Amino acid sequence: MNGEGNYPNVNYSSGFLKLIHNIFQKFLDVNSNNYQIELKKSLEEIGLFFDLDRIFIYYFSKDPTFMQIESQWNKKGIKPKREIEEEEVVYAFPWLIRQIKNKDFVVVNSVEEFSDEAVFEKEAFLKEGIKTSLIISLKSENKLIGFIGYESLSKPTVWKEEQIEILIDISKAFSHTRTRIVKEKTYKKALSGQAILLNNSESQIWALSNVTSYAAVNEAHASFFGKKKSDLEYQDLYDIFDIDTANKLSASNWELFQKNESAKKEIEVRNFKGENRLLQIKSKPQKDKTGNIKYLICTAEDITEQRLAERELYKAKEQAEAANIAKSQFLANMSHEIRTPMNGIFGFLDLLQSTNLSLEQKDFIREAKSASKVLLYIINDILDFSKIEAKKLTMEKIRFNLRNTIEDAVSLLVPKAVEKGLELYTMISEGVPEEVVGDPSRLRQILNNLISNAVKFTNKGEISVTVDCLKEENETAVLNFEVKDTGIGIRKDHIDNIFKSFSQADTSTTRKYGGTGLGLAISSELVKMMGGEIHVESIFGKGSIFKFDVRLKIVKRASGQKFAFEKLDGMNILIVNDDVNNRKIINSYLQETGLKVSEAENGSSAITTILSNASTKNKINIAIMDYQMNDMSGYELANTLKTIPFAKNIKLILLTSITQKGNAETVKEYGFSSYLSKPVRRDDLLACIAMVLGLKKENGEGHQVITKHIVKEVKNALEPRILLVEDNKMNRKIVITMLKSHDMTCDVAVDGSEALKAVLQKDYDVVFMDCQMPVMDGYECTSKIRMLEGDKKHTTIIAMTANAMDGDSEKCIKTGMDDYISKPINFNKMFKMIEANTKTRECVDDYSKIIDDNIDCFVKTTGLGKDDAKEILEEYIRCLPDLLSDISKAIAGNDFDKLAWTTHELKGSSGTLGILSIHELAIKLEQAALKHEIDECARFFAKIKDLLH
Ligand code: ADP
Repeated sequence: MNGEGNYPNVNYSSGFLKLIHNIFQKFLDVNSNNYQIELKKSLEEIGLFFDLDRIFIYYFSKDPTFMQIESQWNKKGIKPKREIEEEEVVYAFPWLIRQIKNKDFVVVNSVEEFSDEAVFEKEAFLKEGIKTSLIISLKSENKLIGFIGYESLSKPTVWKEEQIEILIDISKAFSHTRTRIVKEKTYKKALSGQAILLNNSESQIWALSNVTSYAAVNEAHASFFGKKKSDLEYQDLYDIFDIDTANKLSASNWELFQKNESAKKEIEVRNFKGENRLLQIKSKPQKDKTGNIKYLICTAEDITEQRLAERELYKAKEQAEAANIAKSQFLANMSHEIRTPMNGIFGFLDLLQSTNLSLEQKDFIREAKSASKVLLYIINDILDFSKIEAKKLTMEKIRFNLRNTIEDAVSLLVPKAVEKGLELYTMISEGVPEEVVGDPSRLRQILNNLISNAVKFTNKGEISVTVDCLKEENETAVLNFEVKDTGIGIRKDHIDNIFKSFSQADTSTTRKYGGTGLGLAISSELVKMMGGEIHVESIFGKGSIFKFDVRLKIVKRASGQKFAFEKLDGMNILIVNDDVNNRKIINSYLQETGLKVSEAENGSSAITTILSNASTKNKINIAIMDYQMNDMSGYELANTLKTIPFAKNIKLILLTSITQKGNAETVKEYGFSSYLSKPVRRDDLLACIAMVLGLKKENGEGHQVITKHIVKEVKNALEPRILLVEDNKMNRKIVITMLKSHDMTCDVAVDGSEALKAVLQKDYDVVFMDCQMPVMDGYECTSKIRMLEGDKKHTTIIAMTANAMDGDSEKCIKTGMDDYISKPINFNKMFKMIEANTKTRECVDDYSKIIDDNIDCFVKTTGLGKDDAKEILEEYIRCLPDLLSDISKAIAGNDFDKLAWTTHELKGSSGTLGILSIHELAIKLEQAALKHEIDECARFFAKIKDLLH
């Protein structure tokens, strides 16, 4: 494309050199400020030198699909290449770009030379009236960065080779300078960015060249001291600051330099206002190649306010904690204060109830009692809750009968369930251990809460309580409890909340059903403390199942009751009940007894079963029938059976609900041998069957099974010596009246000092001691009594306290008390305590009969003199009351170990002395104790007592 043409009439070699020299000279020194001006001037110089019409330089943008004119020149009268210098798309000249990518330059001498591909370029040539054009690529590090165009519009130009070469060289100067300028700009930008960051940073930043000299600082650091950057930079601390500040800073710097690695430090420095500010300094050494610190770069934050806030927060936390302790203390005190008058309310209502009252008055008292009970529950809940909050709730670890505990908890709620027409079942699986170690009252509390909720939120249907032993691990049983109801259920979105304190499923619950919303929160905490978890499954409108598991140490595994029923093999029992669950439960309780069990779902099918088996080996011996069934009542069925010769001898047991109970006479009249109330307790059921079959003795009124009650009867004959120590007149009156209603009296002391005197003068079976009293409190009084008694004597002292907080019982025991009973007083418990502690001294006179009966034989067998023999027998009699009292206590507390060794002592001593009647019974009692047969123990003990009276 290079061709001949007109070019300026100049001396090329000197002119060329000058041009090149000028341009290179200029561009060597050019900086970003004069770059544009010098570039433009150079273009003009070139244009004029080569007599061109216009020159332009395009550079590609950051986005290489765009380019922009960097500079342009045009001869007077010639239109500039672009009126507006703005970004243009590169693909406007695709052919040209492709060309210059591969070549250093492109020459176009006329429009006709364009190939077919150069459509856009040709169009531009035509449109702009370009005659000839030289395009030279601009490169940096071998990369195309733009191009420079030399154009002639007025006449064609012929491009000479040396001319092109020079222009290529000049282009190199352009592109190099351009690259340099761009780099400089970027660097400047970065520097100014850093400066912006440094000087606008709120954090103070500085660099130290040694312990007392600054290198650089930022604005924040300088202005902290009310100075300019330049006041600090490269200056010595002692030249800048007062001696105090300089000392402080240099000491701190010295420490940070010493660390020789990243470090942190807090110092208090005075700022320009004279305020002491706390700075947290972080330092990092910048080391040279030899590892010496070149600079120590420091940053600092003013943490004065933050530290103050932290201190305030800490103070607030301490205050909150103190308030929390005060709150739980307050709650404990309040509960004490509330319990004291509650004691009066309960006691007097009880007493009032036993006076002559009209029906209406009785009704009022019933209501008042039930309201007080509710109030007490609420107080107890709040107290428990405050204990949980204060992390003061602890679990007792005592041995207890699991089955009885569960059944007792259910029994409490039976009246409520029956009142609402709800069936309440209990099903305790065979594998559930008999005795465990744990806190029975807390377990009862959980069950009580779940079952009372079930009763409260169920209007129709049934409630079942099932207990299973899931597994045993290291002598620990994992027990699963389920309380299932057919009640109102709980909405899905409320389920997560109900275990939180003060939470009820929805606000309408509070209005309709009442409650505090604490029960489940407490239960869930108690379950956790027993090593388990609680959760609920519920279908709104259909019912709920609350499930929880606990871990309890096994003392005695499920033994079954087989030993008592050896004679039952081959006996047939029929369960007549229209409720499948009741049949299932009774059936399961009868497994392994040897009895053959059949079931009938109503009266008529019972009759059919009885008749069809009458002359077979499956002849029914016992029938347990429900009081109410869908076709006929239990009474009707019993009447019908009486008229059937084959059925006459069948022993009948009636299953009643508690509302029908109490009519023992009627039950007997209908021919029932016994009755049981629902929910059926396994041991009662088995004992009842044993009794009906004559395998066990029937005891007392109605058809109660033989239990610990025997012990009670034995004790009733005694007149206990009681001392009541109580400053509150009302409380005294209640206890005295209650004792009176049981034909008992007591001495009274109104404070500790009176009590002390009384105990010194008289031998008491039991002292009930209030704890908080004027003059001398119960704790002090007890300690004094214990000191005076020493080893010689031990009076039973039972604390009567309204303090129910954790630690109270420990405090009572620590000061020497034997037990404690909380207010409001549970009088049943109080009488049990009296019973357990009353010594059998009244019998001492009678015991002298033992001497008369046995002395001759004793003298004969031992050869002792009569006086010596009498002395020995008297010693035996002196020991007897305590021994009997211990045995009695052991029976009452189901403490078989204690029972075994106390009985062993009785057996030994009576054997040695030849008191054979007692000796033989003691042997039997000991054997029964070893077999853990509590009823048998009670029976033999009663016989021993009989002998002694
Ligand atoms: P309270 O019964 O005193 O309100 P709880 O903590 O015992 O407190 O129960 C919290 C809430 O859980 C109840 O108010 C009730 O909304 C819901 N709830 C508990 N048990 C049941 C249940 N068996 N059926 C339906 N809702 C229940």
